[in-house]
Amino acid sequence: MRFEDVIGQSDLKKKLLKEVKNQKISHAQMFHGDPGFGGLPLALAFAQYILCEDKQENDSCSKCPTCRQVQELQHPDLHFSFPTIQSISKISNGLLSDWRSQIQASAYFSYFDWIKKIDPKEGKPIISVHESEEIHKKLRLKSYQGGYKILIMWLPETMNMECANKILKILEEPPKKTLFLLVAANGDALLDTIRSRCQLLQLQRIEKQVMEDHLKKAFNIDQETCQSITSFSEGNLLRAYEIAQSSDDDEELKDAFIDMMRSSYKKNVIEMMNWSDSMAKRGKARQKIFLTYTLHMLRQCIVKNYMGERLVHVSKEEAAFIDRFAPFISGTNIREFMSAFDEAYYQLERNANSKILFTLLCFQSMRFLHK
Ligand SMILES: [Zn+2]
Repeated sequence: MRFEDVIGQSDLKKKLLKEVKNQKISHAQMFHGDPGFGGLPLALAFAQYILCEDKQENDSCSKCPTCRQVQELQHPDLHFSFPTIQSISKISNGLLSDWRSQIQASAYFSYFDWIKKIDPKEGKPIISVHESEEIHKKLRLKSYQGGYKILIMWLPETMNMECANKILKILEEPPKKTLFLLVAANGDALLDTIRSRCQLLQLQRIEKQVMEDHLKKAFNIDQETCQSITSFSEGNLLRAYEIAQSSDDDEELKDAFIDMMRSSYKKNVIEMMNWSDSMAKRGKARQKIFLTYTLHMLRQCIVKNYMGERLVHVSKEEAAFIDRFAPFISGTNIREFMSAFDEAYYQLERNANSKILFTLLCFQSMRFLHK
């Protein structure tokens, strides 16, 4: 993976390049942000740049033997730790071939994509104490190339306590020339003591123009569709892909959103139940897109309230609805809305019963709107 292959994140790329050029590479760094912002691809590109034998001005060469080994995830000084299902393999090495094939297909993927890949029963993968012992062993070895040994740990927040404590000890007394690149989706769930030992690299939402250009190339779609997908996805590549790969139209999303908010506002329980019924009949992919769309629309209300204008692309009809609806969205209830809809998204991934889930969301919305 080269920096060039990472979508957006230009500020962080510059920062990382500077670290290498000034030879001031922090020994523990945490890439933090939703997997759809690209923390893992960025960590991979950084590792490749550090190890590359023929560094170019702004990127690795991708041709030297080292680069090739890194690209195949076969470099002896580059190690990986990631959550595993304990009954399948207690350590990452046991699932390395799945890991490689996932990254080769795409380095942008979520915890749930990973679960689906490794476990048909969809259990809960974690990083356990067995893995921390492995890490300890690996990092004690001398590096093959005489340079850095690099460990990329994906989703360190899935470490259990016992493992986290062992990793903390390693971070406190790191072996020489060792780099820890932690790639977290939810860094707040990590031990404070671990976080405070890491340099934080906060990933940003992918910039609008970059996302549009990328989608145009990846899906061969027209300008208008690109713009609308870009604005729903709010800088998150995984969400953009979900939307781009579904063939349905936006009209239906808009209507579903308006119906839900209207019936919840009117406290019309029968309408709310009917709405939940019809939403539950749609496919899971569509339901997830609906949640993403709703979050986007709610944010637009806040933008309108606080900045007096709409900063991103919405259609005329959506704008008309937002004009009337925005006064009911405030700094207080927006947080409740966000966390309820995010939670629902998470639960859908975990195969929750969608009828119950959408009914609950209607009732929650009713409560938030009448605060
Ligand atoms: Zn190279």
